[in-house]
Amino acid sequence: MLSCLGATAGLFALVNLLALATPPVPAAPSRLPRVIIHDVAIVNPDSGGRTTTAQTVVIEHDRIVYAGPADAAAAALPGTRIDGRGKFLIPGLWDAHVHTLRLAPQLQLPLLIANGVTSVRDLGDTCSWSTNLSCVSPAAAWQRAISNGAMVGPRLQQVVTYHLEEPPTDGAELRSLLLALKARGENMIKLQLDPTIDARDAAELLRLADSLGLRVGGHLPFTVDLASSPVAWVSVEHDWTLLPQCSRTRASFDDRTASKPALLRAFDSVQCDAVLATMRARGTAYVPTHIASTGQDAVFASGPPASANTARYIPAPQRLAWQIVRAAGKVSEPEARDLRAYHSAALQLTKRAHDAGVVVLAGTDAVDPEVVHGFSLHEELEYLVRAGLTPAQALAAATTVPARFMGVDGVVGRIAAGQRADLVLLDADPLIDIRHSRRIHTVVFDGRVFGPTERAALLSFVEAQAHRMTIASRFLRGLWYGG
Ligand SMILES: [Zn+2]
Repeated sequence: MLSCLGATAGLFALVNLLALATPPVPAAPSRLPRVIIHDVAIVNPDSGGRTTTAQTVVIEHDRIVYAGPADAAAAALPGTRIDGRGKFLIPGLWDAHVHTLRLAPQLQLPLLIANGVTSVRDLGDTCSWSTNLSCVSPAAAWQRAISNGAMVGPRLQQVVTYHLEEPPTDGAELRSLLLALKARGENMIKLQLDPTIDARDAAELLRLADSLGLRVGGHLPFTVDLASSPVAWVSVEHDWTLLPQCSRTRASFDDRTASKPALLRAFDSVQCDAVLATMRARGTAYVPTHIASTGQDAVFASGPPASANTARYIPAPQRLAWQIVRAAGKVSEPEARDLRAYHSAALQLTKRAHDAGVVVLAGTDAVDPEVVHGFSLHEELEYLVRAGLTPAQALAAATTVPARFMGVDGVVGRIAAGQRADLVLLDADPLIDIRHSRRIHTVVFDGRVFGPTERAALLSFVEAQAHRMTIASRFLRGLWYGG
């Protein structure tokens, strides 16, 4: 026993020692005075999707100053030229649901940029899993370093820094927790409650948050009837939390695989449409994260590892943790069938929500097992198309729609004069096949050009980091200390 304790302490000390060394992070390329992308096809995902050929985009410093037909004046301007012939330009992509660990600058943030993801909606960083309210999120410091080019990463639209999982049962304690969160300026209280929480407890919590002027969003408990909830939700995250709303067995659902066929059999289209109408009326966004939710269950049950091609960007301890989760997700063939049927129903619900006018956002829940920052956003776009959205609608869910939802559509989300220069140049048309969104030639983030050489360098940097002992140690240390 003692020797076992000694060995553990020794390992712990070694991990701490190795973790002391801070691995470097890559700097972004300097902005050029003027960049001209000529003879390019501009893809506008809005209004059904339109591609306009023979366009010119002029970028000065961090902004687009011209986007339109090639004209003599733009052609004559001095500057760095990018030949857009045969290429397609889309706005920089958004991932509307990511998480970041303390190692994000070494691992996750460069992967996002290399994959054309220039904005993220951060649903909880390293502090969110801690109940320690004095935990200081590194996101603000990262954002500053990203802005001045000292670090590579996307715009971090920080939405949440605290996950409310087990609210205090004592009313006064709950009130003081919510007041403390309000005092530190939380944008939204992310609810990750037990999905079978007592309906009265959930209602009391929602009313209290509302009375204190706090907005809520996150995982919708099965016990909450969204259509008659007195409190508007900012967003409903994950398909598995919305799907039960469309079933008459919602309130007694327990999320077990065995209960899922019955939940689907009790599908009630009137009830479902009432929920979706409420979401539309209240501006509640839906972020299905199919890749991490029912899609992941279906893949774990039967398919190949989703991350087979991207595992090299993941540190060994994290990969090991994923293998354990995957092994635990193995089920019998009849259960796998049920999980696939559940996933199909979730895809159909996304189409139904989109058709009903609900704001549907492309998000991945990256940090979840086998969900890899950047790469997975392209997989989620494919899921949205499989759900029945057109490629243009899927692209809009990752560009114009999140920008509008987050109130920054005057800044990013479109290719137009005055917008910040966040662009992705593709080698193939994404409106013909959404998988072409992965055919990335160049990413422009905030006017900084990541061409083929810079993108390859980012990917090999992350791959090298993922294999470093210091990173593995820091990852393990994060597991022990949070984040
Ligand atoms: Zn999440």
